[in-house]
Amino acid sequence: MARPGSRIIQAKLVLLGDMGTGKTSLVLRFVKGQFFDHQEPTIGAAFFTQILSLNEATVKFDIWDTAGQERYHSLAPMYYRGAAAAVVVFDISNMDSFVRAKKWVQELQRQGNASLVMALVGNKLDLEAKREVGIEEAEEFSQESGMFYMETSAKTSYNINDLFYEIAKRLAKAL
Ligand code: GDP
Ligand code: MG
Repeated sequence: MARPGSRIIQAKLVLLGDMGTGKTSLVLRFVKGQFFDHQEPTIGAAFFTQILSLNEATVKFDIWDTAGQERYHSLAPMYYRGAAAAVVVFDISNMDSFVRAKKWVQELQRQGNASLVMALVGNKLDLEAKREVGIEEAEEFSQESGMFYMETSAKTSYNINDLFYEIAKRLAKAL
């Protein structure tokens, strides 16, 4: 619910990152509070909406959850074009997914929207015992790239709401 008198911001948000990193699971956790151990791979892209109320504004998210497979790569610009926020997801237990995340960040930077709010997300924090990507490494890359870094678990719901609140706050400042 929008708070009376608060500013309403409509923001397109895109999720990018390798297949299997948990993009759909993050969104389903945020939008529906659900998690599935056998989440079906996304075909093409999926669309969700969610509203977050801050003191300073109400943010209406239009969320595009992309597939991540190489064969859908050429479609990606359609989803990040006009986006106010981008979330690039990797799996902390999978170094290849971090390498791919860096490629996504570079692609986002090339498209040249300087005001894009960007988050790098290391998901599957519940798999800490199998961690392949160090926090320092991910944080350093995020700082260099002008984005913020957060670790989440869609499985346990750790940091999921905080992630979207942080994005909403940054959008309220920027827009
Ligand atoms: P996507 O391809 O990036 O959309 O990834 P999915 O959301 O489809 O998730 C891929 C697989 O990882 C599924 O089997 C999910 O249940 C699982 N998964 C997603 N998030 C987490 C998480 O935080 N922890 C664990 N352990 N598994 C997760
Ligand atoms: Mg998916």
